[in-house]
Amino acid sequence: MANLTKDFFIGLSNNKLLNAQAKKWGFRLGADKFVAGTNMDSVIETIRELNSHHISCTLDNLGEFVSDREEASTAKTEIIQILNKIHEEKLDCHLSVKLTQLGLDIDYDFCVENMKEILKKADAYHIFINIDMEKYIHYERTLDVLKELRNQYSHVGTVIQSYLYRAEDDLEELKGVRLRLVKGAYKENVSVAFQSKQDIDRNFIELSKKRLLGDAFTSIATHDHHIIHVLKEFVKENNISRDKFEFQMLYGFRTEMHDDLVKEGYNFCTYIPFGTDWFGYFMRRLAERPQNMNLIVKDAFLSKDNKLKKEPIILGTLAITSLVVWRKKKNKKEKVS
Ligand SMILES: Cc1cc2nc3c(=O)[nH]c(=O)nc-3n(C[C@H](O)[C@H](O)[C@H](O)COP(=O)(O)OP(=O)(O)OC[C@H]3O[C@@H](n4cnc5c(N)ncnc54)[C@H](O)[C@@H]3O)c2cc1C
Repeated sequence: MANLTKDFFIGLSNNKLLNAQAKKWGFRLGADKFVAGTNMDSVIETIRELNSHHISCTLDNLGEFVSDREEASTAKTEIIQILNKIHEEKLDCHLSVKLTQLGLDIDYDFCVENMKEILKKADAYHIFINIDMEKYIHYERTLDVLKELRNQYSHVGTVIQSYLYRAEDDLEELKGVRLRLVKGAYKENVSVAFQSKQDIDRNFIELSKKRLLGDAFTSIATHDHHIIHVLKEFVKENNISRDKFEFQMLYGFRTEMHDDLVKEGYNFCTYIPFGTDWFGYFMRRLAERPQNMNLIVKDAFLSKDNKLKKEPIILGTLAITSLVVWRKKKNKKEKVS
């Protein structure tokens, strides 16, 4: 049942029609609990407030699966404007970007050029750029882009997902590069990725320990208190300097733990997504933790005067239709193979 729910939300996150539709409506379904605002100006206060609590931020101008050059160029321009803002406002904040937003699915070289323009500006401001890791079909090309960029720029890194079998080898190859470690948010095939939580968690801990014993900076990105506890003990036992790593969590998740970690003297960074393209990001969060549905259901379906809202009904209908079509296609494929 848990897997079915996960598949359902991951299926929705990839649905282009729903992603486009949701953009038109602005935040719905309680997305504002996990997405900080619709534009840069609306999130500056949030960043300032977190900074005042000694929490740094990484900002994600939401967007992915871009198949139009103009849209990718607009995203690049927006990201450069965000860099200007971070610099002007002297915020303790770096950026997280997705290569599919910057044209990876359109043309490899075009995407590299977009990234170079971003890095040129970021370099001038000494702002770090992190390349988020997306689905496995983009994995090789993401690493290729990173390597190409690092021939010219050093303040760029990426993400390694502990559900991938190859994560350990890639970690070794990227041992001098600043990295974020995560479990992995997408649905990947058994041919490339561990499927059980036990294996993914075990690998996450092993990879984290390996990084902590190395030289480069690591962002340990998880909401998993068991893992955080194990790693805190490891850091103490091995006298590892706290300057070599930070914990990262997503905006709106386990907020009480953010402050606790800071009070204990750890570096902490909040990942802040913002923008109108919230649907895919939000559905992946529901896939990870369907309990989040409880938090949002009332918000999603009822207006302040307890009347049923119309958008969720339309979205729900679209979602169910998409699911039925997806199941039919899947069944057909299974019959053929
Ligand atoms: C900062 C950041 C950046 C990320 N970037 C990427 C990326 O670039 N690419 C990518 O593929 N994925 C990314 N992810 C997502 C990541 O891969 C996981 O899908 C996501 O973090 C869920 O896994 P988890 O480590 O939090 O633990 P889970 O396995 O989801 O949770 C472990 C346990 O922690 C507890 N827990 C978790 N969440 C909560 C909660 N909200 N409230 C109470 N208890 C909770 C529960 O006991 C749960 O069983 C990122 C995650 C973070 C935090």
